[in-house]
Amino acid sequence: YHAKDRRLGVRVFDDSLDDGTARRLALVAQLRQALRSRELVVYYQPKVQLSDDVLAGVEALVRWNHPTRGLVLPDEFIGAAEHTGLIAPLTTLVLDEAVAQCRAWLDEGKRIPVAVNVSVRALLDSAFVDEVAGVVRHHGVPGHLLTLELTETSIMDDRASAGEALTRIAELGVHISVDDFGTGYSSLAQLSRLPVHEVKIDKSFVFGMGTEANDEAVVNAVVQLAHHMGKVVVAEGVEDRLSLRKLEEMGCDIAQGYLFSRPLPPEKLATWIRDNLLYAPDAELRPAAKA
Ligand code: C2E
Ligand code: MG
Ligand code: MG
Ligand code: MG
Repeated sequence: YHAKDRRLGVRVFDDSLDDGTARRLALVAQLRQALRSRELVVYYQPKVQLSDDVLAGVEALVRWNHPTRGLVLPDEFIGAAEHTGLIAPLTTLVLDEAVAQCRAWLDEGKRIPVAVNVSVRALLDSAFVDEVAGVVRHHGVPGHLLTLELTETSIMDDRASAGEALTRIAELGVHISVDDFGTGYSSLAQLSRLPVHEVKIDKSFVFGMGTEANDEAVVNAVVQLAHHMGKVVVAEGVEDRLSLRKLEEMGCDIAQGYLFSRPLPPEKLATWIRDNLLYAPDAELRPAAKA
């Protein structure tokens, strides 16, 4: 009996395709479309230099301006992008957008370094380093105004191509930051071999600074050892004044977190910088016409 068979067929199909897989497939199809229709937008979160409260730079963080769901955060779609090859066009989009924004700020007389997150999948793409070189050249942005943030696990990737890509990126003058430091299995000693400019302590340790003595000890150890190796240290996820004060006492260089600002669209970031007087414009870059 046909109708019954069909029903059975549908049920079998549903069973074989678990909810998670079906949802991921739908997400990937929508994400592919979003990349074409420019639904992906870049927000920027300030990084503050603790010695003088000056803006040290901004981190570019992608968001999906979804037609029905509103603003979707990256944790919901970066994983899917990494597993489907969509991470390459996504990285291209964010990199180009962030470097173009850096150029636009330079044209306004503001020297604001930008940091872009790069998945290991994107780093290992043979065309990636040439792409980075092309983007900074195209926009006329000095390499040292761009930082690429790579997670600790990806930077310690054993594959020779990862190390080679890092070396070639560093040769462009582009800075490399180790993101989410402390969550992987690497040691600080391994870091000294790599062309790494900056270490970003994972926010899970920073959150616990007020209450967990162990977290505070980890943060302190990372700050001291990273400094010993000549690396800049950033604490992410700074949400309260007590943590900030402790980070200052430890000599941490830069802090980033909701205490200062959430990630903002570029127009709102400009307002935030003005209102918080954190930006010391570089005299050399200030347009001569604006007295
Ligand atoms: P991440 O690179 O470690 O970025 C820091 C995350 O912590 C951001 O989440 C930021 O909004 C959040 N954060 C910053 N300060 C605070 C704070 O004080 N409290 C709390 N609770 N959170 C804070 P977001 O934007 O949701 O991004 C999550 C992750 O997605 C990023 O972690 C990064 O790994 C990834 N990601 C974001 N944009 C991109 C991208 O363009 N490409 C790639 N490959 N990955 C990206
Ligand atoms: Mg990051
Ligand atoms: Mg991080
Ligand atoms: Mg993270």
